[in-house]
Amino acid sequence: MARVINFGAGPGKLPRAVLTQVAAEMLDWQGSGMSVMEMGHRSAEYGAILAAAEQDLRDLLAIPDHYHVLFLQGGATLQFAMVPLNLMRGGSGGDYVVTGEWSSRATREAARFGTVRVAASSQEGELRQIPAQSLWQLDPAADYVHLCANETIAGVEFNWIPETGNVPLVADMSSNFLSRPIAVERYGLIYAGAQKNVGPAGLTIVIVRDDLLGHLRSSAPSLFDYAAQAAAHSMVNTPPTFAIYVAGLVFRWLKDQGGVTGIEARNIEKAALVYAAIDSAAGFYGNGVAPGDRSRMNATFTISPPGLDAEFLAGARERSMVQLAGHRSVGGMRASLYNAMPVSEAHTLADYMSDFARRHG
Ligand SMILES: *Cc1c(COP(=O)(O)O)cnc(C)c1O
Repeated sequence: MARVINFGAGPGKLPRAVLTQVAAEMLDWQGSGMSVMEMGHRSAEYGAILAAAEQDLRDLLAIPDHYHVLFLQGGATLQFAMVPLNLMRGGSGGDYVVTGEWSSRATREAARFGTVRVAASSQEGELRQIPAQSLWQLDPAADYVHLCANETIAGVEFNWIPETGNVPLVADMSSNFLSRPIAVERYGLIYAGAQKNVGPAGLTIVIVRDDLLGHLRSSAPSLFDYAAQAAAHSMVNTPPTFAIYVAGLVFRWLKDQGGVTGIEARNIEKAALVYAAIDSAAGFYGNGVAPGDRSRMNATFTISPPGLDAEFLAGARERSMVQLAGHRSVGGMRASLYNAMPVSEAHTLADYMSDFARRHG
């Protein structure tokens, strides 16, 4: 079967072994005579699927016991609202670090519910760098500090964890979750939409520290209550059962790859290949991100002189490489190099880029 080389930014590529297993179990999950899609979410069978998914995720990230793992719906975008609705609990509001489109949207959404300050912004660097913490203006009385660990559109990634003292740190990790080890205990709350690196769209993972639960604003929907979701093991209502099952298989697959440390080594290698192809044809390819802040997950680049984008994409397509066009808001190219992509596919792109530059540069 012909599978393309998929550089899509999200929903993104999934491991072939996982898709094969999903296909094999589609009509009959392990002798149950039914698809996971058809199973009652409170059945013993489904309970085992959910429990295994949670345990495998806890193992992968060494999540401490005083953190809850929630499997929710609504995407990362709903977390832009659920975070302030649960975590604004009498302090001075949220401190937001704006490093791109997603953190900017998170800031605007939170401002609908309470006081929000932009503690730091890379706006002056045209959102192509992470501002050093010495430039941040944090309020020690803030309810939390929010950042986006990886900005998918420009391709800007945090490679360090800020120090926020007693103020809980909240991170949107939608596009780099499980791509590297995470020091979970440095965060109050981590959230990630699944469709970039973890599984199908429709699932959002939240990892939240115990002491932050129980403060949902009274006017908010009860479904938004982290405390209620934690108490009900993500089953206040029907959870996204099939997406959780697929994510569970991805967690298993990740363990087979040497866990997050093993996958990180591969991710570093893939990113190095693509950025080397950009830098060795500097002037032809451009990537304006500060070198230390370049994303391992989303490598963006422009081609100059202008007018070659369509030819680049068509040539890539001929070599089975798809979804390389940049985000519609910025144009250019974007190669997303999520966990499921083997090093060989990043090689194929890098070779093509060097060849294309030679022919047109
Ligand atoms: C894709 C993405 C989002 C939006 O996710 P939805 O699930 O569509 O709401 C938010 N933040 C980051 C960092 C993303 O990559």
